[in-house]
Amino acid sequence: MHLQSVITQAPCPRAMTALMAATLAVLIDPILRFRDYRALLNSFSFAGIMKFSGTFTLVFLQVVALFYLITLLPGPLRAVVLLFSAFVVVIQLSYWLTLSQFMTGTDLFLALTVSGDHRVAAILSFFKPLVFLYALPYLLVLSVLIFVPPGYAFRETLLLSLLPALFLLVSNYALFLHVPERSFHLNPLTSFLRSALQCKFESLREYHGLRDDLPPFPASHRPHDSIIYVIDESVRGSNLSLNGYPRATTPFLQSIETRGRLKNFGICVAASSFSHVSNAYLISGHNAFPDDAFRTDKNPTIFDYAKKMGYETICIDINETCLYSLMKAAGDGPVRALDRWMNDKTFKERLIDLETTKDLGVARVLSTLLNEKSGYFILVNKKGLHFHYRDRYPDDPASTIWKPVMKATQAIDPSAAGREKLVNTYDNGIRLQVDEFFRLFVSETTNQNYVMLYTSDHGQTLAEHGQAYTHMKPDQEIVDVPDFLVSGEGYSKKGLLDGIAPGIRVSHLNNFATLLDLMSVPVSLRVRPYDKSIFALTEEDNKERYYMSGSLYGLGDYVVKSIPAPPEAGWGVSRPVGQ
Ligand SMILES: [Zn+2]
Repeated sequence: MHLQSVITQAPCPRAMTALMAATLAVLIDPILRFRDYRALLNSFSFAGIMKFSGTFTLVFLQVVALFYLITLLPGPLRAVVLLFSAFVVVIQLSYWLTLSQFMTGTDLFLALTVSGDHRVAAILSFFKPLVFLYALPYLLVLSVLIFVPPGYAFRETLLLSLLPALFLLVSNYALFLHVPERSFHLNPLTSFLRSALQCKFESLREYHGLRDDLPPFPASHRPHDSIIYVIDESVRGSNLSLNGYPRATTPFLQSIETRGRLKNFGICVAASSFSHVSNAYLISGHNAFPDDAFRTDKNPTIFDYAKKMGYETICIDINETCLYSLMKAAGDGPVRALDRWMNDKTFKERLIDLETTKDLGVARVLSTLLNEKSGYFILVNKKGLHFHYRDRYPDDPASTIWKPVMKATQAIDPSAAGREKLVNTYDNGIRLQVDEFFRLFVSETTNQNYVMLYTSDHGQTLAEHGQAYTHMKPDQEIVDVPDFLVSGEGYSKKGLLDGIAPGIRVSHLNNFATLLDLMSVPVSLRVRPYDKSIFALTEEDNKERYYMSGSLYGLGDYVVKSIPAPPEAGWGVSRPVGQ
């Protein structure tokens, strides 16, 4: 083959090939991502240009080093690595086509820690066939590397790889320290390597010790009431008719509000546009962004307080995004004080069929538990409405109220016609996963001494401003979530609910102390300065409500934003297409 003979006859064939391929890779990048480069050049100051030139050179050398390492590998292993690289290029470009950026360390962390069906759903929601057109030039450049003939013995290979590997490690550490992650990156492969190392560097900095203890407190008797804390998934507050949405997505919730069984707090501001970040704040009561003091890992959890007050503590996690990874390190670890942990597997083992939507199955399980006994504190991570929405309700005419809907595996199409389907599908999902969940739970629970606090981890864009993504960006509409209390007819602390001031505005940060109040936790036992409980809020507390997006500990890329008081016009409002 001509190319192969050229490569073989060159002096230092590996280094020369790596250099040539890296140059090609860096040259095709501005052609393919022309708009990004143009925007970048327009945004630069002189200092910015200097910094960028430095980073540019560093990353170019990284591409050379990476390609050189690949050429050192023996034939079959090299083929495997090149195939994996091709896969990474396609994933990275899919990401870029959808979110205008390559994966960050946080994205990669999520890809590695969430359950399998979330991973598949994420890939499908991002995937567009167009990506192969973009990937092709990169793949051609990569394929050049296969032509370098294998040569060195094992020891020589090891010696030669030492320096480039060390360079990749050290240069990425320098990027970790000095260059924000989401800033421009030249190459999808080195960007991926950077994110992977970013994850590793972050995890070395994180807190891995025990949580703080609560002060000693005389043992409490098992309480007569039960508290259920439902953290739903991807439910946008303003798509509930309870919050004024023009379609009847939550008729049951409205009916119990009329009967005085539901206290609605309107549109709540979620702690984050990422599931794991919101959950970390919700279970620890931390209230500063980002969590650079690792308080979400050090604070006692809501389970610690519940246990101290005599409740039997249960966590039902059928979403497996946040607590799931914490539970893997259970024991005295991140989630102690938990009597029972129930997930998909538990239900399968007990032959409890959660049905297709799972959430309705959980509503039944909750009723069964309460009807048997009192004194539970149960936290539920619901399945909710994680994209694809079409998978979240049965494919029958009774559940398909608003039409036309999306196909089960369709990617988000932000055009008007695409958006109409997207919103219809989502609204059908709300009607079942939210309204029907409550209808089942409320009507099947005979033990009426309970209260349920309900919110969602974050909302959804619903492509409102043309977004092809659902969440995980700092857009204001993503932190629009519901927040309300539902109580049983015989709830023993009803007086507390009657004292809620009118006109208050809430955020996720108010939920922790609200739960402590519901558990009657004395002030002397509260070890952190939590945000005010909903029962203590007044209209005077209506100030900016903060949230964050990105790296929880502020080690990688993150942003802290706020919803002003009063919110900008249009925030907290959602409308079906054409209304
Ligand atoms: Zn989520």
